[in-house]
Amino acid sequence: MTAQPEAPHDLVGIGIGPFNLSLAALAHGLPRQGTGELATAFYDQRRDFRWHPGLLIDGATLQVPFLADLVTLADPTSPWSYLNYLRHKERMFPFYFAEQFHIQRAEYDAYCRWVAGRLPGLHFGHQVDAVRWNPERDVFEVDFTQLDSDGEAEALGRTYTRNLALGIGTAPHIPEPLRPLAEAPTVPVIHSCDYLDNRERVLGAEHVTVIGSGQSGAEVFLDLLRARPAGRERLTWLARTPSFAPMEYSKLGLEHFTPDYTRYFHALPEPVRDQLVPAQWQLHKGIDADTIAAIHEELYRRTLHGGWPDAVLTPGVSVRTAGRVATTKVELHLEHTQQGTRSRLTTDAVILATGYRERPLTSLLAGLDPYLRKDSSGRPRIDDRYRMILDPSITGSVYVQNGERHTHGVGAPDLGLAAWRSAAILNTLTGKEAYPQPARTAFTTFGLDQREHARPHPASELLPLVEHP
Ligand SMILES: Cc1cc2nc3c(=O)[nH]c(=O)nc-3n(C[C@H](O)[C@H](O)[C@H](O)COP(=O)(O)OP(=O)(O)OC[C@H]3O[C@@H](n4cnc5c(N)ncnc54)[C@H](O)[C@@H]3O)c2cc1C
Repeated sequence: MTAQPEAPHDLVGIGIGPFNLSLAALAHGLPRQGTGELATAFYDQRRDFRWHPGLLIDGATLQVPFLADLVTLADPTSPWSYLNYLRHKERMFPFYFAEQFHIQRAEYDAYCRWVAGRLPGLHFGHQVDAVRWNPERDVFEVDFTQLDSDGEAEALGRTYTRNLALGIGTAPHIPEPLRPLAEAPTVPVIHSCDYLDNRERVLGAEHVTVIGSGQSGAEVFLDLLRARPAGRERLTWLARTPSFAPMEYSKLGLEHFTPDYTRYFHALPEPVRDQLVPAQWQLHKGIDADTIAAIHEELYRRTLHGGWPDAVLTPGVSVRTAGRVATTKVELHLEHTQQGTRSRLTTDAVILATGYRERPLTSLLAGLDPYLRKDSSGRPRIDDRYRMILDPSITGSVYVQNGERHTHGVGAPDLGLAAWRSAAILNTLTGKEAYPQPARTAFTTFGLDQREHARPHPASELLPLVEHP
C-alpha cells in the first residue's frame, strides 16, 4: 500500500466533477485555521477531467449563464474564472463580440480541463474505495486504488484527512425493462451519456428510437433528425411525460436556484420536501425552449418540398418490456398511459435518454454507517452547511456536493450554485468568512417571515378588523 504523508489533510475531496473542482479552486491558497494554507487533495477514478463527453454535441450549450463557472459567483477576482481562462486563451475579444451568455458545453468542458490541468492536489486515476473514522488520530482514513491508463488496479493507497467532501455526482440510469437490452452488444441500445461515441453506428441504423423527454433526449433527437435524409428520417421519439414540455426558465422561476430558496427548502419539514422535489420536475427536467424551437424548425423545414418528415414524436408512452427480434432488431412493447392502449415498435437502435441518479453513498461510507444520522427514508441527514449529521464522537465533517437534493432541493445539481456552495463549505471549514456571502439573493421572499409572527404588534398598530360581506 502506498504510504501517505503523516500529516492529515484539512480536506480530501472524493470525485472531481465540476462541484469538487469548484471547491478545489476556491480552496487553493486559502489560509487554514492557525498557520499555513489549507492542505487539500482531491481524487477521481477517471484518467482526467471530462464533463459528459458523450453529449458534447456540436452547438449544445449550457443551461446556465457563463457566470455559473467554478468560482465567479463566490469570487469574481479568482484566477480560476471563465473570463480569466479566456484571457489566457487570448479569446476575450472574440467572446466579447460573440455575446454568448450561454456558452457551448464543449467550451465549459475545455475551461474545466484548463483549471484541472493547473490546480495542484488533484489526483486522477484514483478510485476511492472506502472511508472510515480513526478515533485514535481523530481523522478520516480514505482508502483508494490507483488505476493504470487502462483503468486496471495498479496500487492501493490510504490517505488521512480531518474533513471530507463527497462530490461523486450521478450515474446514468436505465429503467428496469430496458436493462437486459443495454447489456447485449448486437443492436445498439445506448444510454445518451455514450451518444457521441456511438453516433456513427446509430446513424447507420435503418430505424432509430429515442426514449426520454429531457434535454439530452431532445438534443439527441435533433442531432439525428438533422443528420437523416429528408423524407427518410425513420425516427421515433417516445416519452413517459404527457408532453415534450419546456424547462421552466422564467426569471422568477429561476429564483428556485438561489441560496435564499435553498435555505427556505432546507428548513421545511421532511415530508413537505419530499413532495416538493418531484412536483418541481419542470425546474430541472423538461427541454430548453430554444432546443424545442430548433426541433420544430427542422421538422418544418422538411415539409417545404411537400410531405411530412418520417419522424414520430409520441409523449405519454412507457416501455413495458423490450426484447430482441432475430439478432439485429429490438421490439419495444409500449403502453399509452392516457389511452390505455398497447402496441409494439420494432427498431434497429435505441437511445436511452432516461436520465441519471445520484451515485449511492452506501458502499463508500459503509465504514461510517454507525455514525451516520439518517432521516425516515434512511437517507443521510445533512445540515444547512452541507455537512452530514454524524455522531458527536466524530470531530471531522463530511460535506456533500450534489447528493443533497432531499435536504436542499432542486438546486443540488445546478452549476449556478457550485461556487456559492463551495464558498459556504470553505467558510465553515476555515471558521472564517473567507468568501463573504450575500444575505439576500432573490426578489422572491420564500415563506413567511417567522419573526413577523413572533413579534406582537402594539395595540396602536392594530387596525380594526373589517369583515368583508
Ligand atoms: C449532459 C448533462 C448536461 C448538464 N448540463 C447542465 C447545465 O447546463 N447546467 C447545470 O446547472 N447542470 C447541468 N447538468 C447537471 C450537473 O451540473 C452535472 O451533472 C454535473 O456534472 C454534476 O457535477 P458533479 O461534480 O456532481 O458530478 P460529476 O460530473 O458526475 O462528477 C463526479 C465525479 O466523481 C467521480 N467518482 C465517483 N465515484 C468515485 C470514487 N469512488 N472514487 C473516485 N472518483 C469517483 C466520477 O468519476 C466523476 O468524475 C448537466 C448534466 C448532464 C448529464
